[in-house]
Amino acid sequence: MDPIAELGLCFGIAILLILLLQRFIREILRLWEQQNVNEVAPRILLPISTCPVCDGRLESHLMTRHLIVTHDMEVEKAAELVEVMRSEKAQSEE
Ligand SMILES: [Zn+2]
Repeated sequence: MDPIAELGLCFGIAILLILLLQRFIREILRLWEQQNVNEVAPRILLPISTCPVCDGRLESHLMTRHLIVTHDMEVEKAAELVEVMRSEKAQSEE
């Protein structure tokens, strides 16, 4: 092969490798960022509580409504129960 063509080929391969490497790095960074987001996400989400009646898991702010609607609980009783659960949770987090 004549040297100029060989040089051109080497140059071409080098560019190709750099492009592939860039893509690879970008892909890794993207996955890494995604992983970070996944790790951070649960803390951003609203706290999850366990329903004392059916052991179902749902967001804390939906618990009162869930107790009233699903378990036919009185509004005051439901609010009281959620308040107790909230203070228990706060204590366990301290
Ligand atoms: Zn329930």
